[in-house]
Amino acid sequence: MKPAPFFYHAPTSVDEAVALLQDLQEEDSKVLAGGQSLMPVLNMRLARVKHLIDINKLHDLDYIRPFDGGLAIGALTRHRMAEHSTDVATRAPLITEALPLVGDRQVRFRGTIGGSIAHADPVAELPTIALALDADLVVSKRGGSRTVPASEFFITFLTTAIEDDELLTEIRIPAPPAHSGHAFLELSRQLGTYAIVSAAAVVALDGGRISEARLALGGVGSTPIRALRAEESLRGQAPTIEAFTEAGRLASEATDPSADVHGSIEYRREMAAVYVRRALKVAAERAAVA
Ligand SMILES: Cc1cc2nc3c(=O)[nH]c(=O)nc-3n(C[C@H](O)[C@H](O)[C@H](O)COP(=O)(O)OP(=O)(O)OC[C@H]3O[C@@H](n4cnc5c(N)ncnc54)[C@H](O)[C@@H]3O)c2cc1C
Repeated sequence: MKPAPFFYHAPTSVDEAVALLQDLQEEDSKVLAGGQSLMPVLNMRLARVKHLIDINKLHDLDYIRPFDGGLAIGALTRHRMAEHSTDVATRAPLITEALPLVGDRQVRFRGTIGGSIAHADPVAELPTIALALDADLVVSKRGGSRTVPASEFFITFLTTAIEDDELLTEIRIPAPPAHSGHAFLELSRQLGTYAIVSAAAVVALDGGRISEARLALGGVGSTPIRALRAEESLRGQAPTIEAFTEAGRLASEATDPSADVHGSIEYRREMAAVYVRRALKVAAERAAVA
C-alpha cells in the first residue's frame, strides 16, 4: 500500500526544521527520520499526516562524541553507527549490547537513535536503556532548546514530552559509575523481534557491596519502567542471588503489563522478575572484574 498524499519538506538545517515545525504545528505534521516505524504506519494508512518533515539532510545531527565524561549522540545517528562505535562500547556499553537485538541489519542501517527514543515504544530496546542510563534528551525549537531527563520523557504509549514544535536533537548519557557492570537481557520470540519483556541493569560495586544499582524494564507497561524500590533494596547489599531475587520480586511489583498474544499479565510479571534477577547477576559479575 501507499501512504495518503502529504506535503513533503526536506530542511537542510536544524533551524529550518524547527521553523517548519513551528509554522506547521497546527497542521498535522510529523518528523521523518529513518522511517522504520513511521513509514509502515503511513503505508498501511494506520495514520495520515498533512506534512512530512524529512530530517535526513540534517547531517549536523549525525555524530557520537564524548561529552562531560559520558557521551553525546546526535538524534540522526543510525543504529548501525552506534552499534560499531568504540566510544559507545566504552562509555555506554548497554547500548552496544542491546543494538544487535533491534530489528535486523536493514532496519539498523536506516533507523536512528533519536527515532527509536522519540517513537517511545515500550517494547523497544533504546527507550528502556535511556531510562536505565539516566540519559538526558535535548529537544530544540525555534529560539532555543531544553533538556528533559529520561525519567520525565516517556509519558505513555508512543507519547513523549516532545512538543509539536520541537525536535529531539541529542541524547546525553552520563559517564558510567566507577567499578560498574551492565547487562541488557530480553525475552523475545526470536532474534530481532520486539521484546516481550526486557531488563536493563547497571550495578556498581564498592568493597564487595553494591554501591549503586539502576534497573529499567521494557514490555511491562505503557512506558519503560524504572524499578526504584528494587534499586533501593540493593544498595549496601552483597551481590548475592538472594538479593537479586528480591530485587526481581520488587521490580515485578512495579510493572503494569497488558496481556496480548505473546503473554498474559501474570506471565509478563513473572518474566520481569526472572529477567531482572538474571540481568543483575550478569551486571554484578562484570562489575567485579571492571
Ligand atoms: C521489521 C522491523 C523490525 C523492527 N524491530 C525492532 C526491534 O526489535 N526493536 C526496536 O526497538 N525497534 C524495532 N523496529 C523499529 C526501528 O527500530 C525504528 O527504526 C525506530 O523505532 C524508529 O527510528 P526511525 O529513525 O526509523 O524513526 P521514524 O520511523 O522515522 O520515526 C518514528 C517516530 O519518531 C518521530 N521522530 C523521529 N525522529 C525524531 C526526532 N529527531 N525528533 C522528534 N521526533 C522524531 C517520528 O515523527 C515518528 O513519530 C523495527 C522496525 C522494522 C521495520
